[in-house]
Amino acid sequence: MEQTHYLIVGASHAALSALHAIRLHDAEGDITVLTRDQSLPYSPTVLPYVVSGRSKPERVFLRDEEYFARLKVKYRCGVAVKRVSPEKGAVQLADGEEIGFAKLLLATGAAPVLPAIPGLAEVKFHVLRTMNDAIGLREAVPKIKHALVLGGGLIGMHAAENLAKGGAQVTVVEIQPHVLSGYFDADASGIIEKVFAANGVRLLTASRVAGLAARGDGCPGGGALQGHADRRRGAVRAAQPPRAQLPAARRAGRRRHAVAQDGRAGESVLHGAAPDGDPGAREPRCLTTACWWRSPTVCSR
Ligand SMILES: Cc1cc2nc3c(=O)[nH]c(=O)nc-3n(C[C@H](O)[C@H](O)[C@H](O)COP(=O)(O)OP(=O)(O)OC[C@H]3O[C@@H](n4cnc5c(N)ncnc54)[C@H](O)[C@@H]3O)c2cc1C
Repeated sequence: MEQTHYLIVGASHAALSALHAIRLHDAEGDITVLTRDQSLPYSPTVLPYVVSGRSKPERVFLRDEEYFARLKVKYRCGVAVKRVSPEKGAVQLADGEEIGFAKLLLATGAAPVLPAIPGLAEVKFHVLRTMNDAIGLREAVPKIKHALVLGGGLIGMHAAENLAKGGAQVTVVEIQPHVLSGYFDADASGIIEKVFAANGVRLLTASRVAGLAARGDGCPGGGALQGHADRRRGAVRAAQPPRAQLPAARRAGRRRHAVAQDGRAGESVLHGAAPDGDPGAREPRCLTTACWWRSPTVCSR
């Protein structure tokens, strides 16, 4: 069994800070850093720019191999810790390999929780937490016309901005009366909302997504996304706070911000939210019939 003095699981901001601090106190002790990401360390803060193509995945790394060599650190990427055995002083990796440690740091970050929206499992959706998520979203954007972003917080708005820059028609659904409510008051958010609206992003505030459905419409391989947004008594929050993730927990739910998309859908329809300028609306109504990508060779009417 491979043995190391300091074992750090995770290779992002917390792990790199800890690594730096350890080396200030101990210049020689064995350090091994493990990450399940397939690459050198990167900051999740750049991921929205990867979605729009403004940042290239291979150019966003926080550290290079030379850094780890200089600090005498063994860096292993693409390895996931599945179990911690304190009694043995070892961790077990997904492939069964064990690594022994004297000191262990779990710097595994947080995993967003998927909101319990009925129908979520039936539609194609993306989340934005890892580099692979960002690359997957970037590849999906050219195949769709309309993206629905659930949650108008920092990451949701950043994703919306970059999805729009990538060429998608974007709608953001936010449960609070204004976007970025954790950061700004209504006046400041209003300025931001105007900028987004001027750039073609549709914002539905004070709205909840209560349901999503892939609609069969007779098209082979077709379907549609329906979001039922009810600002009065919506069923669920669109976004929930992230949870700390620990290797042994193996959470099924994953990340915070879900971007719903269905590249094969015929149309995207939102029912039931109060449309802009009509806060008193009570009856469900069709707000948008934004076109999703439709292949005339697959479905023609
Ligand atoms: C899209 C996006 C934009 C953001 N923008 C901002 C911003 O503008 N400003 C800001 O302050 N914050 C922002 N944040 C939040 C910020 O990125 C996080 O707070 C920060 O990354 C947390 O760092 P961390 O090291 O604790 O965890 P993470 O960055 O989550 O890193 C966790 C590490 O653990 C590894 N890991 C997890 N489980 C395992 C396992 N079982 N085995 C092996 N390795 C594992 C992962 O591969 C990763 O290397 C943003 C986050 C996202 C997702």
